[in-house]
Amino acid sequence: MAHEFRTRSIHAGLTPDPATGAILTPIHQTTTYVQEAVGQHKGHTYTRESNPTVSALEGVLGALEDAPPAQCFATGMAAITVLFLATLRAGDHVICGDVVYGGTVRVLREVFENLGVDVTFVDPTDADALRNAFRPRTRLLFVETPANPTLKLVDLAAAADAAHRHGALFAVDNTVLTPALQQPFAFGADVVVYSTTKYIEGHNATVGGALLARDPQLVDRFKFFKKTVGCPQSPFEAWLTLRGLKTLDLRVRAHSENALAVAGWLERHPRVTGVSYPFLPSFPQYELARRQQRAGGGLLAFEVEGGTAAGIRLMNTVQLCSLAENLGAVETIVTHPASMTHGYLPAADRARLGITDGLVRLSVGLENVEDIVNDLDRALRVAVAA
Ligand code: PLP
Repeated sequence: MAHEFRTRSIHAGLTPDPATGAILTPIHQTTTYVQEAVGQHKGHTYTRESNPTVSALEGVLGALEDAPPAQCFATGMAAITVLFLATLRAGDHVICGDVVYGGTVRVLREVFENLGVDVTFVDPTDADALRNAFRPRTRLLFVETPANPTLKLVDLAAAADAAHRHGALFAVDNTVLTPALQQPFAFGADVVVYSTTKYIEGHNATVGGALLARDPQLVDRFKFFKKTVGCPQSPFEAWLTLRGLKTLDLRVRAHSENALAVAGWLERHPRVTGVSYPFLPSFPQYELARRQQRAGGGLLAFEVEGGTAAGIRLMNTVQLCSLAENLGAVETIVTHPASMTHGYLPAADRARLGITDGLVRLSVGLENVEDIVNDLDRALRVAVAA
């Protein structure tokens, strides 16, 4: 009988080590594998192509989305780059959501446009704009939902439908929610993308990425480009990510509970001028969030009275929360998207997309929620009083 999600994240693909009985997959820290005779090996030949510890991680990630094993990469950006390499060639066209991680914009603009790929950034919530963006050579629609950092959602079923009607593949960066809270394949996605750096590993200990597809031919292409370009996940990082996965479901549900409490508290705070969190009833796409997400996730964004200067003072004043550039780990992290994660975008583009200079992004951790709130409260008083 198929197991539930949390059980799969703990047990999928796990068999005691035949040599020792070790319950966990060992870290196979090796470059190569001795062959019994020419052409006779046990499935692995060279770690750039495959490694047993990395394969174990790939198997679990696939099992969590009823898909073939994932392909795992050195970073999330390596995974995204391989997706574009595997699906696009010169003269092709890709449509990308207008609010996505800054590194995704950078690789499209600075690498793929230079190689002759046409790129259009579109607001995927605007059905007319999306429909009009397709061209005869559109091969791929790429979105992120909730989008980092504004939390804007994309209607996955509608976007999949638009892509498929135009013969394009539909890829979803599901980093912010993980398969525990949102399953893009169920809404028609062809490819699911992760930066495992975030919630999947979840402890600020590794960088990594993954690509999943249900079409085995696509998986083969991802594997081919991973081997050819040479950007696989390393065994130790894969092992840490396997360990993180065992508590993924528990963690993201606790992150979501804390984030909902912090978002509600911020919304009631007299010095806060706006809060974005998909599971707040005031969120403009609340109904959509309830339809396609199992919980709100751990990420929220807010603005403080006094605009940019006050927002920056707040970020410089927090003590328990760390001012840093990651999201999705057990520690609460506060980020200034305009200068950190999305600093690559020109100021005019950021303003158009709602990434204001005063926007504060909060990746709500797993500390006691009272301690997070007290830290923010103190920082808000200092920031607004100054
Ligand atoms: N996708 C999203 C949504 C991200 O937030 C990030 C990184 O911040 C990436 C992809 C890139 O992942 P990595 O930093 O592991 O290369």
